[in-house]
Amino acid sequence: MTYPDVQLLINNEWRPARGGASLKVHNPATGKEIGSVAKATIADLDDALASAAKGFEVWRNTPAIERGKIMRAAAQLLRERAGDIARLMTMEQGKPLAEAKMEVAAASDVIEFFAEEGKRVYGRLVSPRAMNVQQMVLKEPVGPVAAFTPWNFPINQVVRKMGAALSTGCSIIVKAAEETPASPAELIRAFVDAGMPAGVVSLVYGDPAEISGYLIPHPVIRKITFTGSTPVGKQLAALAGQHMKRATMELGGHAPVIVAADANIAHAIKMIAGAKFRNAGQVCISPTRFLVEEAVREEFVAGFVKYISGLKVGDGLADGTQMGPLANPRRLNAMHAFTTDAIKRGAKVAVGGERIGNEGNFFAPTLLLDAPLDSSVFNDEPFGPLAAVRSVKNVDEAIAEANRLPFGLSAYAFTSSIKTAHQLSSQVQTGMLWINQPAAPWPELPFGGVKDSGYGSEGGPEALEAYLATKTVAMMSV
Ligand code: NAD
Repeated sequence: MTYPDVQLLINNEWRPARGGASLKVHNPATGKEIGSVAKATIADLDDALASAAKGFEVWRNTPAIERGKIMRAAAQLLRERAGDIARLMTMEQGKPLAEAKMEVAAASDVIEFFAEEGKRVYGRLVSPRAMNVQQMVLKEPVGPVAAFTPWNFPINQVVRKMGAALSTGCSIIVKAAEETPASPAELIRAFVDAGMPAGVVSLVYGDPAEISGYLIPHPVIRKITFTGSTPVGKQLAALAGQHMKRATMELGGHAPVIVAADANIAHAIKMIAGAKFRNAGQVCISPTRFLVEEAVREEFVAGFVKYISGLKVGDGLADGTQMGPLANPRRLNAMHAFTTDAIKRGAKVAVGGERIGNEGNFFAPTLLLDAPLDSSVFNDEPFGPLAAVRSVKNVDEAIAEANRLPFGLSAYAFTSSIKTAHQLSSQVQTGMLWINQPAAPWPELPFGGVKDSGYGSEGGPEALEAYLATKTVAMMSV
């Protein structure tokens, strides 16, 4: 499949931007230009808004069971097209083809979960204080949604937002990432081809700040949802607040991994090492701060180094590749800066630490030892193939370090003690805690953070709540 020139979807028509402007798309494995994406103007956004307003009226008046049928048909089309779509994703984003295939398959699961869950949006009757009164609590779709998604999981980030919005009867304008535009366009094509009425889903690309600055305050938009960095999330949440718009924010993390002295270390390595380097570490729930009790540190580091040394890094399309390039040159520069800063402050590089070659954005999977707590790798989200290990005296110290940062998205722990597991469950400030296992963010589980990692959830029944307004209706019969 050749890489396309990606268009906008407005009112169920695929079209270039008015005026024909576009942006270039590059393959991160080669640095070469592979295609383009239409760059929407304000006039395109006005068209999308008008169509989302009409689409909302159609979709909110479509029974949940019918909405579910179209959603399930889209999930099926996506399954049939998964191979081609995964190739496009690897070409634009860099991740190994096997990971891209898993992402497309997972998207079908997400759609099916929400298609079903939409049937279970219940109101309630509240016992009245007089017998001629009936009191109802109704749940209604909040209205047209603006969704802003990043480049690390080009489909997964979009489908979680679309799934929840569509299942509750909202229309949605998606602004997906300009660096990875083709695979989300194919996700949305599946919905259009499955029979989605015009205006229910729109797709735009362009200047992110211009688009969010126009859509968020616009009166048609009733809710916004954003996945990306904490600084941008804070800006968009502030804008949403100024215009009294509901908001879901899925932001950065810096996941601690607490390894207790009583943990099964071989199991811990097996569970967490692969998770660390998935998507070259460009994952908001990527394990990053490894806090290992002194008694098992040597064994843990030896196992981790062995795993990393065996990783095959290369073009995501090549057979056997386990880790691809970073998605853009910004991440390459960031990895260099994290490593240099840590070394300057006394850290040792156990393995990796450098760019690989001079074509594409390849950075070696890296393990840093004993970076001090004031080094940038222990404070800012690495968002790359970088893991840092520090010894801790006990689990209390590990929990204190885990909670030191303003982030609270995901956390991991390995222990064979149920007492320690209970302590971790109650004391670690996080949205998700995975004990003795890697993250398994199934669509039926809530997904979201606390503190600077944002608010709202993108999984489970909680995800639907964010797209629903509550209306109280009381009726007196006279
Ligand atoms: P960035 O902060 O510039 O952008 C992050 C995402 O937000 C991009 O998709 C971008 O298009 C979008 N964005 C930026 N400004 C925007 C605006 N004003 N309105 C709407 N969207 C806007 O950073 P980046 O260099 O692309 O990524 C680096 C950092 O972003 C990482 O270190 C990581 O912390 C964070 N990030 C997080 C996730 C996640 O899954 N939570 C995903 C991608 C990036």
